[in-house]
Amino acid sequence: MRCNPRYEILFEPVRIGPVTAPNRFYQTPHATGMGYQKPFSGAALRGIKAEGGWGVVSTEYCSIHPSSDDSPFGFLTLWDEDDVRDLARTADAIHAHGSLAAIELWHGGAHTNNRLTREQLLAPSAQSAKFVQPGGARAMDRQDIADFRRWQREAAIRARRAGFDIVYCYAGHDYLPFQFLSRRTNRRTDEYGGALENRVRLLREMIEDTKDAVGDTCAVAVRLAVDELHGSHGITSEGEGREVVEMLAELPDLWDVNVAGSLGNDSKSSRFSPEGFQEDHVGFVKRVTTKPVVSVGRFTSPDTMAGQIRRGIQDFIGAARPSIADPFLPKKILEGREDEIRECIGCNICRAANNESVPLRCTQNPTIGEEWRRGWHPERIAGSGSQARVLVVGAGPAGLECALTLGRRGYGVMLAEAGNTLGGRVSREATLPGLAAWARVRDHRLHMLGKQPSVEIYPGSRLGAEDVLSLGVDHVVLATGSSWRRDGIGASVEMPVPMAASASILTPDDIFDGAAVKGPVLVYDDEHYFMGGALAEKLRLAGHAVTIATTLPVLSSWTQMTDEQFFVQKQLMEAGIDLLLSHNLASVADGVADFACAYTGRITRRDFGALVLVTGRIAETALFDALSAATDAHGDIPSITRIGDCLAPASIADAVHAGHKFARHLDLPAEATVPLRERPSFATGDKPWNAVQPVAGPAARSVKSAASRSVRGSS
Ligand code: ADP
Ligand code: SF4
Repeated sequence: MRCNPRYEILFEPVRIGPVTAPNRFYQTPHATGMGYQKPFSGAALRGIKAEGGWGVVSTEYCSIHPSSDDSPFGFLTLWDEDDVRDLARTADAIHAHGSLAAIELWHGGAHTNNRLTREQLLAPSAQSAKFVQPGGARAMDRQDIADFRRWQREAAIRARRAGFDIVYCYAGHDYLPFQFLSRRTNRRTDEYGGALENRVRLLREMIEDTKDAVGDTCAVAVRLAVDELHGSHGITSEGEGREVVEMLAELPDLWDVNVAGSLGNDSKSSRFSPEGFQEDHVGFVKRVTTKPVVSVGRFTSPDTMAGQIRRGIQDFIGAARPSIADPFLPKKILEGREDEIRECIGCNICRAANNESVPLRCTQNPTIGEEWRRGWHPERIAGSGSQARVLVVGAGPAGLECALTLGRRGYGVMLAEAGNTLGGRVSREATLPGLAAWARVRDHRLHMLGKQPSVEIYPGSRLGAEDVLSLGVDHVVLATGSSWRRDGIGASVEMPVPMAASASILTPDDIFDGAAVKGPVLVYDDEHYFMGGALAEKLRLAGHAVTIATTLPVLSSWTQMTDEQFFVQKQLMEAGIDLLLSHNLASVADGVADFACAYTGRITRRDFGALVLVTGRIAETALFDALSAATDAHGDIPSITRIGDCLAPASIADAVHAGHKFARHLDLPAEATVPLRERPSFATGDKPWNAVQPVAGPAARSVKSAASRSVRGSS
C-alpha cells in the first residue's frame, strides 16, 4: 500500500542546522525509567523507534554533572567516557535506521534530589528544594555559573563523541536554565537577574557555548517552556515566554517548545486534555523564528498531524506518548496502514513507570521496555508452526490481546465472551467522564483481530466447565476478569466492614449495570486509582449531591503516579463534590455510614441514599474452579492458564501485558522466557569488595569501567 497523498507532507525532509531529518516525525525526549543503569534496554528502545520511522529520536534527560542527580529516577549521565561508550549504543541504534539521534542535556538545579551524589543543590537564588525534603538549594555565584557553562560545553562535546546529531539546551520543565528565566525563582540582582534581558543571559550563553563546542556538525536545539501556567506570576506565552523566543529567535537550530510548570501540564492525560492541547500556547513560535519548530500534543491522527504542518503551527510532529504506544506510527502512515496505528489512550501509565523508577510500560503497547530484556518487537513475532488450537475465555483487554497475539503467531484461536459487548472492563470504564479514549484498547484489537483469519470470536457465549471441555482444544486461557468487592475490604481497611442488609450499597459493577441510584450519594474510595473519583464525577454530573470519602490524605492517591492527582482533586472540588479525607469506613446502617478518622479513630457520621464502595476487586475464578474440579475427576484435560484480572486484578496495562506474554511464550522452552537483567558487577581483579580507601588513578577508572559495563542474563 502507498502513503495517502494527504499525508505525504509528513515525509518531507527538514534541515536542522548542519543536519537533515529524513521526515517530520520527531520523537521528543521522554523518560523511560531506564537511564544510565540500563544502557542496553535504552538503546534497544530508541532503536525500535527509529526502525518505526521516527526521523528524529531523542534520549531522556541526560545529566551534565553530578550536581544534577535525579536518583532514584531513571536518568542518563554524560559525566565521563564510560557514559560516552554507553550512549554511543543508543546513537548507533538510532543511526542504524537512518534517523537523527538527539540528546537532552540536563541540569535540574533546585529540581533534583542529589541523594546519590550528595552534592549541594544549585539554583539562581537560594530556595527550598523542589522535591520536598529538608534543606534547599544555594544561590549560584559567578564561579558556579562559569562551572555550569563549562559542564554544558563538556557534555556537548561528549555527546558528539557518542555520535549524537542534535544536542539540547534544556530550558523547560522547571529545570536550572528555566529557573534563571522565571521571576519566581530568579531574584538575583547581578547581570543574571532582574530584567528579562538579564534572566535570559544564561540561556543565551548556553546556546552560544554549545554551538561553539559542537555547532559545526551537530544541531543545537533549545527546549523551552513558553508558558509555565502560573498566570502573571510566571512565564506566559503572551508575555515573557514570547519575549524569550523573540530575543533568541535565530540563535538555536531548532525550537522544541511546550508548556510546563509542575503537575503534569506537559504530558496531561486524556482525561483532562484533548489531542493538540498545547497549540494555544505554542502556536506563536513559528511566527517569530525562521528556525524549525517542534511541539507535542498527544498526536495520533494523521489528519491532525498534517494539519499542524499545513497550518504553520510546527515543522515537526513531536511525540512522546504516541511513539510509546506505537513506535511504528510513522511507518504505518507511510505504508497507507494508518488504520493499524495503536493510538495512545492518554492514560499516563507510562508516566507512572518513571515516577515509580521502573522501566517504561504502556497500556496500549505491551512490548515497550521489553525490547532488549525479552527481545519483544512491536511488529514482528515468531510464528508457532503449531497446529494446536487455543480457547481464550473472556474478551477484556487480557483476552483480546492474547487472542490477537496468538493469531499473529498462527494458532487457531476461539475467543468466547459471555457478554454481547466485547472489551470487558474497558468498555465499561470508557463510559466514565473523560475516559472515552480508553476504548481504543478494545477498538484497536478488534480491528486487528478482523485481519486474523485464524481467530474466531463468539460474543454472547458464557462458557461453563463442560462447554470448555467439550470443545477439545489443546490449550485453555482464562481471562474472565474480576468483580468489585462488597465487603468493605480495601487498601487500608483489612477486615470486612459491618453493614446493615437493608442499606443501599452499590459497587461500580452495579452502576455500570444501570442500577438505580438514590441520592445523596456517598462514594467510599479505598482503592485510590481513578475509579472512585471518576464515579463521583459521573454521579455528580447525573445531578446527585455527592460526597467522596477516602482513607488517605489525598483523593485518588495513586493518580500522583500518572501526574493526574492535582487535576482530579481540582475537578471534583470545582464540581461541588464534598470531600472527606483520611477516614476509614467503620460501619454502615440503613442510610447512615460511620467513618473513623485514620489518625485519631474519632467517628464522623454521613447520611446517604446510596453508598458506592470502591475498595478493591476480586478475581473471577468460578470457571477456573469448575475446571480444576473436572481435572481432578477426569485427569485428561487441556492445559489451563489464568491471565490478567482473573489471576490477580491489576491495571489494564498489566492485563494487556499478561495476554501478550502468554501468547509470546506458548510452546517456547522455559529458558527462552526468562528476561535478561542489566546489573552492575565487578570482574576479577577489580576493586575488592572490602576495599576501604578509594583506588587512585588509572586503577579507579578500570574499576568504574567494569562496574558500569558488565551485563549478565538472569538465572
Ligand atoms: P481483564 O482485564 O483481565 O481482561 P475483564 O474484566 O476486562 O478482564 O474482562 C473479562 C471478560 O471475561 C468480561 O468481558 C467477562 O464478561 C468475560 N467472562 C467472564 N466469565 C466468562 C465465562 N465463563 N465465559 C465467557 N466469558 C466470560
Ligand atoms: Fe499512551 Fe497510556 Fe501508553 Fe502512555 S501508557 S503511551 S498514555 S497509552
